[in-house]
Amino acid sequence: MVDVHGVHKSFGPLAVLRGVDLRVRAGEVTVILGPSGSGKSTLLRTINHLEKVDRGWVSIDGELIGYRRSVDKLHELKERDVLKQRTNIGFVFQNFNLFPHLTVLENLVEAPVSALRRPRREAEDTARALLGRVGLAEKADAYPRQLSGGQQQRVAIARALALEPKVLLFDEPTSALDPELVGEVLDVIKDLARTGTTMIVVTHEIGFAREVADTVVFMDDGIVVEEGPPTAVLDAPQHARTRAFLSKVL
Ligand code: ATP
Ligand code: MG
Repeated sequence: MVDVHGVHKSFGPLAVLRGVDLRVRAGEVTVILGPSGSGKSTLLRTINHLEKVDRGWVSIDGELIGYRRSVDKLHELKERDVLKQRTNIGFVFQNFNLFPHLTVLENLVEAPVSALRRPRREAEDTARALLGRVGLAEKADAYPRQLSGGQQQRVAIARALALEPKVLLFDEPTSALDPELVGEVLDVIKDLARTGTTMIVVTHEIGFAREVADTVVFMDDGIVVEEGPPTAVLDAPQHARTRAFLSKVL
């Protein structure tokens, strides 16, 4: 379970997260919606300690992320320990972020071998199975630039899965794609949802949220304004800000 508790984050004078609470149970999908600048990406980045919180904490399966607690104080973990924790937290970005100089297969093998010390042979077998799962078995030896955006994003998802993370975070995984390529990426994420992958997905794809989310969270101005099942938040929003946002995107 992912537990975000009372998280505050400012950049200089700008308060970007102003007390965010979020709980995502194992096997569930949470979709985060909200206007530009509301703090969605910052929230995802605090979950894997790419951003350090000012106040509050994040835990995954009871383990504090980025800190350890002694008596009543928090001490930041060493970079090496944070990197180890991050292997449990898959992150899929808007712009794929594949290693351009590595083949597709090598992109999937790199982290399991270097971070988890998996035998290369075993990591390659896992990588090939994952490429099959995202429909790209035949692209193992291609380079990222030889793939379409949708294919690159499916590779990025397979690469995140190669570390067998406890949770997968997606930051607008389809917003850099041509419209005709959005469906193939959403289909992969839907398939992961069906097989019980714990996921937090920031997206503007309302149809996807309706179909796949267990919980929809609407953020605005650094707080969670409203959350609940898709039917509640999308069809019967309680807050004026949620209604105003939905009327623009639906
Ligand atoms: P979008 O939908 O446009 O991606 P978002 O909800 O993801 O928006 P964030 O990227 O979390 O929003 O940014 C929230 C606010 O924090 C914005 O005003 C942004 O300019 C600011 N911000 C984010 N990162 C930094 C940073 N490293 N330094 C200073 N300001 C930042
Ligand atoms: Mg963002």
